[in-house]
Amino acid sequence: MIEVKNLTKRFDGFTALNGLTMTVPTGSVYGLVGPNGAGKSTIIRHITGVYRPDLGEVLIGGEPVFENPPVKARIACIPDDLSCHAGASIRELKSFFKGLYPAFSDERFTALADIFKLDQRQPLRRFSKGMQKQAAFWLAICTQPDYLVLDEPVDGLDPVMRKQVWSVILEDVATRGTTVLVSSHNLRELEDVCDHVGVLHEGKMLLERSLSDLQENIVKVQLVTDRPIPPELNVLHKSMTGRIQTLIVRGDRREIAGLLQQCNPLLCDLLPLSLEEIFIYELGGVNYDVKNLVL
Ligand code: ADP
Ligand code: MG
Repeated sequence: MIEVKNLTKRFDGFTALNGLTMTVPTGSVYGLVGPNGAGKSTIIRHITGVYRPDLGEVLIGGEPVFENPPVKARIACIPDDLSCHAGASIRELKSFFKGLYPAFSDERFTALADIFKLDQRQPLRRFSKGMQKQAAFWLAICTQPDYLVLDEPVDGLDPVMRKQVWSVILEDVATRGTTVLVSSHNLRELEDVCDHVGVLHEGKMLLERSLSDLQENIVKVQLVTDRPIPPELNVLHKSMTGRIQTLIVRGDRREIAGLLQQCNPLLCDLLPLSLEEIFIYELGGVNYDVKNLVL
């Protein structure tokens, strides 16, 4: 488990993180979503032990991560900026990573060479941005980490590679129980992979939930009826196409279905919302920046 408790970070008087609390359960795929400048990379640099908290604490498996090499050896990170490795080749980085990560798997490295068809001898700076990301994924996966931390990882990857990379990662989650923390400024990128979501805005956690919690408490209803909708329903949004009304309703699914029977519907379908839809309706009133996360 990753626990961030009341974390505050200031840069020359500017408060980048403001008493932030966040919990990433073991074995989850946690999406950290927020507009540019929200503080995602700053949190990630605390979680990977690069920054020391000004206030608060960051615990991984119950232990502080800063200046704690045994804890750090269990975390692999793909940072937003890969330029510090640009002079090295994959082959060189591989031996460097083997020194840092005792669990590094040569077997895995060889197996993944089929997916990441990259020249192992070229320095990374000769690669495109997307190829550099691929190299970083390749090496990070081979370290067999307990915690995989990815800062805007799909930036620059083409859709096919994006899919392949996620399928490798999700396989690790299923077989090894890897805990994954992934940040993005775009919710849509995370929709298919995450089971937990935290929404960050101006250095604060606006909302943190599991996907099943989110989906349990809000439904989309497609309804055809001549009667008025029961006033007990907590309708967040309503639209109409022909005779079909589409309602976004907050509340318990079964109770909603029961209430809707009162208006004797010709059609009544209850559908789950996509993550994107949930955010538009849940947070739409809160903040314009947050709405932009899904655009
Ligand atoms: P995100 O990754 O969500 O786009 P960051 O964590 O990079 O956001 O940055 C959060 C805020 O902190 C931004 O306003 C940024 O300008 C500021 N910031 C980040 N790192 C530094 C730094 N090293 N020095 C000064 N300000 C910084
Ligand atoms: Mg960032």
